[in-house]
Amino acid sequence: MAGLPRFATHEVLNQSPPFEDVDLYAGDRPLQDAVRQNGVDEAARLSEFGRQWGTAEMMDQARVANENEPRLKTFDAKGFRQDIVEFHPAYHQFMAASIGAGLHAMTWNSDGTAAGPPSEVARAARYYMVAQVENGHMCPITMTRASVAALGAEPALLAQLVPKIASRNYDPRFRPWWEKTGITLGMGMTEKQGGTDVRANSTRAEPAAEGYRITGHKWFMSAPMCDVFLVLAQAPGGLTCFALPRFAPDGSVNGLRLQRLKDKLGNRSNASSEVEFVDAFAWRVGEEGRGVRTIIEMVQLTRLDCAIASAGLMRMALAQAVHHTRHRTVFQKRLADQPMMRALTADMALEMEGTVALVMRLAGAFDRAARDRNEAVRARLLTPAVKYWVCKNAPGFIYEAMECLGGNGYVEEGMLTRLYREAPVNAIWEGSGNVMCLDVLRALAREADDARAVLAALARVDLPGTRDAAAFVAATLSAPDAEAHARAAVEQLALVAAAAALAESAPTPIAEMFAATRLARRRGTTYGTAPLDSDAMSLLLGRALPG
Ligand SMILES: Cc1cc2nc3c(=O)[nH]c(=O)nc-3n(C[C@H](O)[C@H](O)[C@H](O)COP(=O)(O)OP(=O)(O)OC[C@H]3O[C@@H](n4cnc5c(N)ncnc54)[C@H](O)[C@@H]3O)c2cc1C
Repeated sequence: MAGLPRFATHEVLNQSPPFEDVDLYAGDRPLQDAVRQNGVDEAARLSEFGRQWGTAEMMDQARVANENEPRLKTFDAKGFRQDIVEFHPAYHQFMAASIGAGLHAMTWNSDGTAAGPPSEVARAARYYMVAQVENGHMCPITMTRASVAALGAEPALLAQLVPKIASRNYDPRFRPWWEKTGITLGMGMTEKQGGTDVRANSTRAEPAAEGYRITGHKWFMSAPMCDVFLVLAQAPGGLTCFALPRFAPDGSVNGLRLQRLKDKLGNRSNASSEVEFVDAFAWRVGEEGRGVRTIIEMVQLTRLDCAIASAGLMRMALAQAVHHTRHRTVFQKRLADQPMMRALTADMALEMEGTVALVMRLAGAFDRAARDRNEAVRARLLTPAVKYWVCKNAPGFIYEAMECLGGNGYVEEGMLTRLYREAPVNAIWEGSGNVMCLDVLRALAREADDARAVLAALARVDLPGTRDAAAFVAATLSAPDAEAHARAAVEQLALVAAAAALAESAPTPIAEMFAATRLARRRGTTYGTAPLDSDAMSLLLGRALPG
């Protein structure tokens, strides 16, 4: 520390400087290429955003928000229920920054209709950068933006809520939604007896004056200080979607009883609650019995965010690894110049190229879906495949980056430990791995001809191995025992889609390398095993991080 006398026994040498006060956009060539290719031409603004989120202060506040976890205040001092969660100011700072930038709503017009191209990609680029810094607060940001899709089933309710949702003011006060300058939305589907199988929901909804009364529980309901929750409950006509506000229309606190906050592996700045609903007021969203159909509109968007967030986690891990190896010397040579470390980080950079191209191309498909049937089917078919592959890939990738930092990667003062703990949740929530594979099968069954056309288009990409891989996907997923082999096929589907996305956005050698090493040629199960030559490594590492 400046001003203090040097410690008597030794000087600190050969440590990399902190990776901070960086531009998360300008330093990331694969991101720039993918974003531009998918219709976003606002480099200066994205760079400004990248500098804002790449400051030392933001990175330190992320640490603070995760070290000072939210606390449940069930009762007040006199024993009255209050059911509130208190967050550290650092968490509120991130919420204000993300909402101020519009990440919770910028893909919607003021009437709740889709804003259209290129808002999905413009948001995805920002979301990817935010995910590199702080993830917990992104849960309510994701749910708020996605909720508008489900609320579309109830236009009058949407019209009431959307001005508050679209507001760029973060208003954390525990007040009725109509008194606030901006609101956030959460969702509750998972119950003790089932998260995937929501048809097993036992929570009941009885018609009542002006709405319904909900009684039951949710086993996971994250961000419980949201103002409204989309929940599923059994109405007389079957499983139905509802919007359940924290305050009832008469201004009284609604019947949500927060029982406990989950003690989670990661995602610690965010609160995930267990909740009982006691005769809680709610509005119906969509028809009775159409609950899954209604909320699935929201879930497609949250799945997209899971993939983008995991890609962001991977990007920060890679940047930290490449940065560190450029400054650390081992055996009189910079780690970055040791042949095996170069091969390792270049192989990881290649994985990252495919990952970021893939998620931005998927966001582009969401942008174009309203006007282009092919893009709509592409988004439908590939969202579960991309979530599957990217989210599953992230923990192993981050672990490898952690190892590049040696022991320094494993300690809590660094960032890698948090990224690593954060990573598995994106695979688990919003549909776990197997469920994503089942969803790919469902998409193929429902959109049979159109989905096959998307597969056929991917097969036509002129890159090593893509045709055979696409044929394997088509054959495996249409076989009578498709479910048992779906993981292998869905992984290949994501890889083919990544190669195709690279063919559109990255320099040709990058797309060829990705396809050659991931689809055509054998490579080991760990990074650093892809047969890349020295020029290829230089190209990849230069694009990953200038310097
Ligand atoms: C940090 C965190 C926050 C969360 N926040 C929320 C929230 O805000 N709102 C909310 O509603 N939920 C939330 N969840 C819950 C989450 O969405 C569920 O845990 C998830 O959907 C899985 O459901 P489950 O836990 O009941 O597992 P299960 O449904 O029991 O699944 C267990 C495993 O079985 C697999 N599986 C299921 N069906 C099949 C099948 N047919 N064939 C093969 N394999 C299958 C799944 O892939 C999974 O791996 C959260 C979870 C976490 C960890």
